[in-house]
Amino acid sequence: MGFFDKLKQGLSKTKNSFDEKINNVFSAFRKVDEDLLEELEEILIMSDLGINTSSKIISKLREKIKKENIQDTENVKEALRQEIQNILDETENTLNLNTKPSIILVVGVNGVGKTTSIGKIANKLKTQGKKVVIAAADTFRAAAVEQLEIWANRVGCDIVKREEGIDPASVVYDAIQITKQKNADVLICDTAGRLHNKKYLMDELKKIQRVIEKELPDADKEVLLVLDATTGQNAIEQVKAFKETSSITGLILTKLDGTAKGGVVIGIVNENKIPVKFIGVGEQIDDMEIFNSKEFAQAIIE
Ligand code: GDP
Ligand code: GDP
Ligand code: MG
Repeated sequence: MGFFDKLKQGLSKTKNSFDEKINNVFSAFRKVDEDLLEELEEILIMSDLGINTSSKIISKLREKIKKENIQDTENVKEALRQEIQNILDETENTLNLNTKPSIILVVGVNGVGKTTSIGKIANKLKTQGKKVVIAAADTFRAAAVEQLEIWANRVGCDIVKREEGIDPASVVYDAIQITKQKNADVLICDTAGRLHNKKYLMDELKKIQRVIEKELPDADKEVLLVLDATTGQNAIEQVKAFKETSSITGLILTKLDGTAKGGVVIGIVNENKIPVKFIGVGEQIDDMEIFNSKEFAQAIIE
């Protein structure tokens, strides 16, 4: 199965998926009128897009219907898909890794897929001909380092690790020196699963970012927040909490193979103006792609 098919299959997994609900509306409504728009708005809200984003999409849709005198429901569907894509395109989706070295810091709560995503991204960058170093700055559990090491071996890139329990900022410091020595292109730093209500863990994250600022002041930096798509609404709280300590430059949306809850990300992008940069659709090394708004909008509405 290709990447798009996995995405499509995940997003339309349940009877209650966004896609299914939208299609039900379009088969129930034959006329393009205000009732149809109201029904669509309700579905957007129920699909975790949030009230602001849902009403923004619907008013743009209403304008377009009027301006272009759209009378066929099939064309309304196409226009809805386009409006969703437009929201995702309001942010700059491309990765900013133009300096040598550049750095990616990966943050997020426990179990969302940080370590797995790092393995997949390292592989992607390596395929593009970049030399990658990975820093095992989740020093909280020895198993976390081992897990990252397995990925580094699979990808064939360097890993910088220290003993369990050591200050993660010191691992990042070491990794930056090694990245410079080896003349590598990109350093990717793993971090521990931070419970956003634990202040000291957030302070630890701030310290890591201070080290990066000091050691690599002119480097391009991506701070990517990993969100597990299956958590739905909870993701909104996680974005809020991490924004307080970090200047998040992008999102990695994982586990889209296992959920129909991808809609939440549209609201998150719109409200926070943070772009999605990668999406994950499985546990294998090639189950991650650079985000493509058109493909995503197409997968979310058949
Ligand atoms: P971390 O705690 O944030 O580092 O999360 P991990 O990378 O350890 O991932 C937690 C679990 O989620 C592991 O079992 C991964 O294999 C799984 N996982 C990560 N990304 C995906 C994905 O896109 N799809 C699926 N189905 N599982 C994923
Ligand atoms: P729980 O009681 O099972 O929820 O576990 P904790 O709340 O102690 O920790 C949850 C997760 O937060 C752990 O798996 C770690 O990834 C992270 N964590 C907790 N305490 C620390 C710490 O002191 N340092 C670091 N780096 N991570 C921590
Ligand atoms: Mg991890």
